[in-house]
Amino acid sequence: SNMKKQYIAKTQGSKNFAESAKQVMPGGVTANIKSFDPYPVIMEKGDGAYLYDVDGNAYVDYLLSYGALMLGHGHPEVITAVQNQIKEDGTFLFGTPHQLELEMGKKIQQLYPSMELVRYTNSGTEATLLALRMAYAFTGKHKIAKFEGHYHGGYDQVLLSVNPPIKNAGPANQPTAVSESKGIDPYHEENTIVLPFNDLEATEEILKKNKDEIATVITEPIQGGFIPATQSFMDGLRRITEELGILLIFDEVKTGFRIGLGGAQSFYNIKPDLTTLGKVVGGGFPVGIIGGKKEILELSAPSASSDVFDSSQSHQSKAKDTLFHSGTYNGHPTILAAGLATINVLEQEIEHVFSITNQLKQGICELFDKHGIGMQTVGVGSIFNVVITEKETINHYRDLQQSDFALRRELDFGLLTQGIYTKPLNRYSIATVHGQKEVNHTLEAYEKVLAEII
Ligand code: PLP
Repeated sequence: SNMKKQYIAKTQGSKNFAESAKQVMPGGVTANIKSFDPYPVIMEKGDGAYLYDVDGNAYVDYLLSYGALMLGHGHPEVITAVQNQIKEDGTFLFGTPHQLELEMGKKIQQLYPSMELVRYTNSGTEATLLALRMAYAFTGKHKIAKFEGHYHGGYDQVLLSVNPPIKNAGPANQPTAVSESKGIDPYHEENTIVLPFNDLEATEEILKKNKDEIATVITEPIQGGFIPATQSFMDGLRRITEELGILLIFDEVKTGFRIGLGGAQSFYNIKPDLTTLGKVVGGGFPVGIIGGKKEILELSAPSASSDVFDSSQSHQSKAKDTLFHSGTYNGHPTILAAGLATINVLEQEIEHVFSITNQLKQGICELFDKHGIGMQTVGVGSIFNVVITEKETINHYRDLQQSDFALRRELDFGLLTQGIYTKPLNRYSIATVHGQKEVNHTLEAYEKVLAEII
């Protein structure tokens, strides 16, 4: 395509790097999602709202490391917090409980009242994994239910029907579990039940049929961070799961802090049984937090009798008194310092982020309108996606699949050549450092590219 050719012309350094990287990492990447055809842009430096690639091109960054960087790159408050933490304590890691675990925990309890107790992990993946274990232990049941199109991390139980080919995925109101990777035990296709998002009637029917086996429903309350559940769907899902004795997990790894400081649960006024957080709350460093009802979290409280000879090496006997949760880096002080600094800034500046997001959404819609192309900016809070479609509403994964990916991809390559960065087909995340200048630049780039491709 024309836009892709222009991209290639501007990114020869990235092209060369990507070739070399293939000698070191499969496909030249260390997370499959970072790869795209013909090769990804290779970034070298970040500064505020901007990323600079190895060819010296500057980009307004809307990927923001898949939403993690809500203050942009190198925010001074985060840098100071991290430097102070290391200087004052003289160490990166204690291997004991410490002050910042308390401080962050209290902050989370305040902003997410459903998270009565918390545990820290090293990633969103680990947080959802622990949430599922807690659900099995609490309910004594052995299956889970997840929604088609929802992502909860890269492990076997949930790596089903995240992005399935529709032709293999069964009827819309009764999706079948489709594995997303080689090497996943077919056991999980049996024991992970897939639900249709925003279809309450079908969801209720499937849950009722399997209520004796389903320990929990796990959901991204806003799919992919941008397709909201309807209020009535969420209200219904909460009511049904309660009635059926099924736990409800809100996976707020993307939506936490981004939909509002209190996440999607505050937006919907819903109290999930368990919640997982990640991304923003690590201030750009790896983190996950799981929290929820006291009586569920207490399952992981060590009992006195579990004090055996180094439980990580020898946990055959007493450890079954409790729900195992451990990790060398859990509650890493430097990361919690960065996360707390991030929350502090957001408490002052989140309204600015929402206002910039709305300006961008509106501006983009107006430009498409001029060309008479049907599209929507789908999203709430500080995340949205540009969905080119004649449909009135985008409610779930299958609606999204029917949008014009080819035109969107062409747009994205055009925008890359104009210094606007998001991975092709990815969503837009907004940060405190995005301002009027970036909005204007972005809308000008849209105007120019749309004129060329339509
Ligand atoms: N859950 C959701 C909703 C996510 O968006 C992600 C990451 O994109 C994860 C879980 C996994 O988090 P991590 O990449 O930190 O393991």
